[in-house]
Amino acid sequence: MSCTSVAAGRLDTLVFDDSYVRELPGDPESTNTVRAVYGACHSLVVPTPVAAPRLLACSREAAALIGLDAGECATPRFAEVFAGNALLPGMRPHAACYGGHQFGQWAGQLGDGRAIVLGEVLNAGGARWTLQLKGAGRTPYSRSADGRAVLRSSIREFLCSEAMHHLGVPTTRALSLVVTGEGVLRDMLYDGNPQIEPGAVVCRLAPSFIRFGHFELFTARGDEYTLGKLADYTLRLHFPELGAPSPATYVAWFHEICRRTARLVVEWTRVGFVHGVMNTDNMSVHGLTLDYGPYGWLEDYDPLWTPNTTDAAGRRYCFGNQPGIAQWNLARLAAALRPLIPEAEALQEGIDRYARTYAEGWRAMMAAKLGLSAFEAEDAARVETLFDMLRETPTDMTLFFRGLAELAELPGGVADDALLAPLRVAWYAPPAPAARERLLVWLRALQMRYARDGRPPEERRAAMNRVNPLYVPRNYLVQQVIDRAEQGDTAGIAEMLDVLRHPYVAQPGREGWAAPRPEWARNRVGCSMLSCSS
Ligand code: AMP
Ligand code: MG
Repeated sequence: MSCTSVAAGRLDTLVFDDSYVRELPGDPESTNTVRAVYGACHSLVVPTPVAAPRLLACSREAAALIGLDAGECATPRFAEVFAGNALLPGMRPHAACYGGHQFGQWAGQLGDGRAIVLGEVLNAGGARWTLQLKGAGRTPYSRSADGRAVLRSSIREFLCSEAMHHLGVPTTRALSLVVTGEGVLRDMLYDGNPQIEPGAVVCRLAPSFIRFGHFELFTARGDEYTLGKLADYTLRLHFPELGAPSPATYVAWFHEICRRTARLVVEWTRVGFVHGVMNTDNMSVHGLTLDYGPYGWLEDYDPLWTPNTTDAAGRRYCFGNQPGIAQWNLARLAAALRPLIPEAEALQEGIDRYARTYAEGWRAMMAAKLGLSAFEAEDAARVETLFDMLRETPTDMTLFFRGLAELAELPGGVADDALLAPLRVAWYAPPAPAARERLLVWLRALQMRYARDGRPPEERRAAMNRVNPLYVPRNYLVQQVIDRAEQGDTAGIAEMLDVLRHPYVAQPGREGWAAPRPEWARNRVGCSMLSCSS
């Protein structure tokens, strides 16, 4: 092996750029005190060192994105760097300044209150990956909070980011999970019982962490200069295929964000993901799932379900509202871009494009979930009836669609019980007699539809199993991994990540990772409802 190949893949060989800091206006003040920051896209701030960093988990696939050898992740230096205790040459740590609408209300300046960008790695293929620590300490945007993150929510972010990637859903990535050796005080349920919990830091990766709220803040302040700088920068660095910045390119860019956001929400719908806090400051301009907080996975199908306790009364961010909320958020972004785009109609076209792309994407996605080669007009009623039935008989959405793939291979004249057998595992309660009859009628009609569709049964089954996951990071399973980790057994994190690497492939011996939510988990904190206190 030559000396150069020995060096490749090491921390010290990472090539960093600092375009966000270099090209965009920065905070003139350098003190790390909480304040309003004007006319700036960032404040330089270094992570606050922690007592005893220790690596709990690392994603080798995320490491590969920045050209880092998996072996390098096991070194003490890796834990130091990704806990925020040491900087690598070329890093320019900073917190971003942005605003946002939270629960429908303009919230003013928010900013990275506990996230600190370390720098942008340029990998050998020329791709740019921004590295960001979450939980790395206070910044000028921390408001009254501590800038830290607890282990439970860091495990949740780490596992779900990587699971989403393996599921094929656009997402920010997670490189590492490091415990800090320090305690963090949290009132998990906001009920006046704060507890000391273990602290942790996750390193996330994304092309950038630019949010809708970045643009909203400058427009809300009438700061068209910074708005223009940020828009031009975003176009040049992250959407160069659209051409040099101009009003026409701004329009094309907004349309592209609309298209990507539509695709994102279709994918969430496909896998049963509920983000939980779709505030505009948590919306990525790249169309990625961003900011894993009180998210959840739909188990018994219920479009009104929200995992977020803060949202329990209004259910603004429940599963069924996500497509409409994404559109509302895009309208906020459109308003923020208005100063750059003379014709309001062009922005409205983007919103219309979102609605169209979502509707088309949803039909194609539903056809694929059902194993049909195309969505026909009559399938709309079929799907509507299906969701009525899944609501009527509490049914696990994930397991239902896996069971349906079995059915795709059954012959037409099969007995009722055999027809229902693959679906039993998905029922949280057996169907009432009328519901059972209705389901049988629906299944027989689907079998006839399959016959007309004409695809070979085994091909249909395989295609269905490629879009209907078997393993998703169910809330109660992640909570069990968290419980174990808090007791000192952290092996569950790597075990679960390994299962989630292949979410569409049945893995013998790992049936427990696909099991429907047990009764005890129905109302347990962390398993069904989560707070924002992460
Ligand atoms: P989120 O609801 O997690 O998206 O957070 C909304 C805002 O609160 C963001 O600006 C965060 O940076 C900030 N924030 C949340 N938790 C903390 C914390 N522990 N310390 C400082 N800022 C925080
Ligand atoms: Mg956020």
